Amino acid sequence: MMSWLKGLAHLLMTYALRIVVWQRLEKQAFPAGSIMVIAPHPDDEIIGAGGVILQALEQEQEVHLVYLTEGEAACPAKPAEQVKSQRRALTRQVAGQIGLPPNHQHFLGLADGAVPQRNQPGYQSARQAIQQLIDTLQPDHVLATHELDYWPFDHVACAHLAEDAVAKATHRPNLYLYWVWAWYNLRPWHLSRAECHGLFAVSCTAPATQKQRLVSSYLDARAEDGSRWSGELPLALRRASRFSVEILQQRVHAE
Ligand SMILES: [Zn+2]
Repeated sequence: MMSWLKGLAHLLMTYALRIVVWQRLEKQAFPAGSIMVIAPHPDDEIIGAGGVILQALEQEQEVHLVYLTEGEAACPAKPAEQVKSQRRALTRQVAGQIGLPPNHQHFLGLADGAVPQRNQPGYQSARQAIQQLIDTLQPDHVLATHELDYWPFDHVACAHLAEDAVAKATHRPNLYLYWVWAWYNLRPWHLSRAECHGLFAVSCTAPATQKQRLVSSYLDARAEDGSRWSGELPLALRRASRFSVEILQQRVHAE
């Protein structure tokens, strides 16, 4: 009963956030150009930036997807290697659905739930790997998950890795951070905080249906025992993935 109530409260908060975001944030079109989207786990890129990805493909811009982990922590009762291979297969399926060539997907193979934070072992090598991709692929825009996601902590690490990789790369793309779990973890009244300054809303009404199909490819894929390969997401987050709006923030680094 309590968890049911908690779920409902979260759902109401997410819808309230949706309303406040639409009233308060500036609406912008995402700028044209090639993109590299960094996802801590397979599905984050679609949940948080699927509309931006579809728009870029529609405009025949080059799109690269970078997966920090293969999301093996989603099914703790199953062997990690099996979950990894299933979730990697889902990324291939989604790439097939949007016509993305396999060599536009990049897997860094970090441990799910343990993407290194700043000052942790492995952080610099992960940052270097991203930096190399930036210098090789030369995207106009890099997208990574936002620190406002708070949790899973991999999402915060993703924001920092992207920020530091962009700062050190020779090629200088624009950096944008996108919301995934912020839809679940943030409250409407938090939007007045300083770290929310500069957030903007991208309306993705046109690709909304196609995005939902991609979200469903990830989130509705089940093992034989009925468990979902991408884990059981809270209802509020699942609903947020259907909103025809994506929230981003540009990061401008000091030279
Ligand atoms: Zn994630």
